[in-house]
Amino acid sequence: MALIVQKFGGSSVRDRERIFNVARIVANTHNAGNDVVVVVSAQGDTTDDLIAKAAEITHNPSAREMDMLMASGEQISIALLAMALNEIGCHATSLTGWQAGFRTDRAYTKARIKRMDTERITSELERNRVVVVAGFQGLNKLDDITTLGRGGSDTSAVAIAAALHADRCQIFTDVEGVYTADPRKVRNARKLPEITFDEMLELASLGAQVLNNRSVELAKKYNVELEVLSSLNPVPGTVVKEVAKEMEGMLIKGVAKDTDVAVITIMNVPDEPGMSFKIFGMLAQKKVNVDIILQSTGRGGKKDIIFTCSQGDAPIAVRALKESGKFSEVSCDNSYAKVSIVGAGMQSHSGVAASMFEALSNSNINIHMISTSEIKISCIIDKDEADRAVSAIHDSLFH
Ligand code: ASP
Ligand code: MG
Repeated sequence: MALIVQKFGGSSVRDRERIFNVARIVANTHNAGNDVVVVVSAQGDTTDDLIAKAAEITHNPSAREMDMLMASGEQISIALLAMALNEIGCHATSLTGWQAGFRTDRAYTKARIKRMDTERITSELERNRVVVVAGFQGLNKLDDITTLGRGGSDTSAVAIAAALHADRCQIFTDVEGVYTADPRKVRNARKLPEITFDEMLELASLGAQVLNNRSVELAKKYNVELEVLSSLNPVPGTVVKEVAKEMEGMLIKGVAKDTDVAVITIMNVPDEPGMSFKIFGMLAQKKVNVDIILQSTGRGGKKDIIFTCSQGDAPIAVRALKESGKFSEVSCDNSYAKVSIVGAGMQSHSGVAASMFEALSNSNINIHMISTSEIKISCIIDKDEADRAVSAIHDSLFH
């Protein structure tokens, strides 16, 4: 007998039919003799709808009340799924995040899990019940409801799997697994049987949108093997683990694009020691997460510094730089995108970057900035060309 955590996203519990579909998957797993803990998200677009409702009342809602509101979506899902399970003869108990023992820090709308008290889940499992837990939510020190940030139910599932030392953590979604590129946009995108945590982290943060970033971080930290698979089509998905089998000749695991990119330029910065520290120290204080940094060679005692960050952070960065009084020529441009290739195999092979640049060159796409790490190469290009770039790179690297 194994202990299995199964997570179902919003589209998988969208309506009555989908809820019963999930109930059957869960019941089959339970009937096969396993203990099962299920984590669910809010149905369909519920969370977006709740956010829109708040906007009808105020443009500046308190974060505490937003969490109170948003957490209600998952509460609907757990009750309905538990009812559906009971209806088909599988005994189930629903638990909110706090009943399930999620304790978080105080950061409303983006709380981090501090610890998990698993007694309640364990005692329900001992009574041979399926436990249905609301994802995305917990309780802070003040006994206030908190949420874990958008897409946080993946993190809830991994945290439960880690705390209970589950044998398997399955993330069910509406795609069949992790692909070499977005299968809706790139024909010939291939499903990967396996991928490493590090590769997945890069792809998640690059906008591959299959797994939430923090869930992968947590899975890596506690070494929880994840299986991403479809709730609609029972075929093998993608396993995410520490070391993946190297597929012959597959240096690259994926091509991703990220359009949430702001390019900020600071012109005529004095060319003297300590300037970078001044700029990026100040941005760090404002919690701006800087990605790629470029610095021009100096001329006449001045140089330009260019960096990228998310579009959400950009106004904060621009304001901080201008208000410092030291940099007057600051501009921000949102018309760029980042395309990246990711693969642990590139560490030990040469020529990968050249192939990527060649693909872009053959498609006549101009590169504005480049950054590399051991397992990733990213190029900043015009946003209008991002989809074309991804296809071109994918075609040339995966033939
Ligand atoms: N319902 C929340 C959201 O839409 C959490 C989740 O789906 O994981 O962000
Ligand atoms: Mg959702």
